[in-house]
Amino acid sequence: MTEVERAATVLAESARAGRPIVAFTGAGISQESGVPTFRGAAGLWTEHQPARVASREGFVADPAYVWRFHEELRRVCREAAPNPAHIALAWIETALADSVPTPVITQNIDGLHQEGGSRDVIELHGNAQRVRCTRCAYTSDDLPTAFEELPPLCACGALLRPDVVWLGEELPREAMRRAQQWAEQGGVMLIVGTSATVQPAATLPMLALQHGAALVEINPEATPISALAQVSLRGRAGRLLPELAEALATALDT
Ligand code: NAD
Repeated sequence: MTEVERAATVLAESARAGRPIVAFTGAGISQESGVPTFRGAAGLWTEHQPARVASREGFVADPAYVWRFHEELRRVCREAAPNPAHIALAWIETALADSVPTPVITQNIDGLHQEGGSRDVIELHGNAQRVRCTRCAYTSDDLPTAFEELPPLCACGALLRPDVVWLGEELPREAMRRAQQWAEQGGVMLIVGTSATVQPAATLPMLALQHGAALVEINPEATPISALAQVSLRGRAGRLLPELAEALATALDT
């Protein structure tokens, strides 16, 4: 039995027992769509200091600088298309729709899971294509291709900011509550393309483990999850997730 088949068996056992298969994804799943990860050789943070471009303090110090960085990230996300990994996860959701829940909990802000066809997506870190006001309750995802002036202002006169979670900020409460609920259901957590180091999102695999879930990982590199996972598949998500989906279909047929 190959490692992919072994992973498929873990997923199939959970599906047969009626327990959820919860995907937990990070920047690595979108790397093959051309959205750079934060860490790693071609990562965004090798060129930009996180504290300057992704923190409230950085935004207060120089909102136009943060917006220039964000507009570039927003353009990259908008122009990216879902890759076979996003599509395989959506396929699993459709294939198992009548038997078990298959939510996707993502740290990504690129919207590619939804574009790839996933319907039940929990965004822990917001969405790059949405803004919110720094003073009033205004939010919008109906944005121009590029803002004429940076930083953009709200109708109330205050600064608009990207509706994403920056370093040290609290996660959206409802999204985290739902993610924690899924992590407490047992079954399988399928962890794809995350270094599992960004807190508090990285607590979710540990929570799942404490509640009896099996962890299955897909990542080209070892992470803190690798030693805890029942199966840890080494390689690109765009190759391994479609293989896993196919092996799952076979395992469920037999
Ligand atoms: P990370 O940058 O810390 O780690 C990326 C992980 O992906 C690494 O472990 C790497 O080995 C792995 N990886 C690289 N290529 C891969 C591939 N082809 N297939 C599978 N795995 C691959 O990312 P993170 O853990 O998501 O945390 C970083 C934070 O950055 C998150 O909060 C996220 O919101 C944000 N972010 C999001 C995007 C996006 O929306 N696409 C992009 C960059 C950063």
